Amino acid sequence: VLKSDVRLSILVGDIVESLKPLAASHEVTMHVDCKPLCIYANGQQMKELFGNLISNAVKYNKPGGEVWVTVTEEDRNVIIRVKDNGMGIPKESLSRIFERFYRVDKGRSKKQGGTGLGLSIVKHIVNFYHGTITVRSELDLGTEFIVKIPIQGKMC
Ligand code: ATP
Ligand code: MG
Repeated sequence: VLKSDVRLSILVGDIVESLKPLAASHEVTMHVDCKPLCIYANGQQMKELFGNLISNAVKYNKPGGEVWVTVTEEDRNVIIRVKDNGMGIPKESLSRIFERFYRVDKGRSKKQGGTGLGLSIVKHIVNFYHGTITVRSELDLGTEFIVKIPIQGKMC
């Protein structure tokens, strides 16, 4: 895996820009607050990580819904939060959403296309960087994914 200095504010801005048509089709508004951070990582992996989390927050939302993306640095960790006020995830599914091909219910997911691989890829990437991912969700209220990636060496 090739690594380079990745400027997260630029990368996240590009991803959000590329998801604007999807958000518009779901009538969802995206908000971004990304500190000017830079990490030594693989750009393609970072794009997949943000792209999967943000596209989920858009797809599993409701018309008029919102998505908040924040990136901060806390205690030498990059903290990525992707929060939505969409449909939420039932408690009994929460432990399974990172499995390959797992989708919460065929009804909600079938019309969205996709394969159920997104979150398993995100988890794989987070593990590659020795990070953690946690999820909090309330059915009908929304979901928040929090990714924590330790910063190794100097920040660029
Ligand atoms: P793919 O990502 O391959 O296009 P997918 O979105 O169905 O397909 P995952 O990203 O792995 O697959 O997500 C697994 C399931 O978790 C989804 O089918 C969806 O039911 C649920 N899910 C994921 N993110 C959210 C979210 N932000 N709000 C509500 N449900 C979610
Ligand atoms: Mg997905």
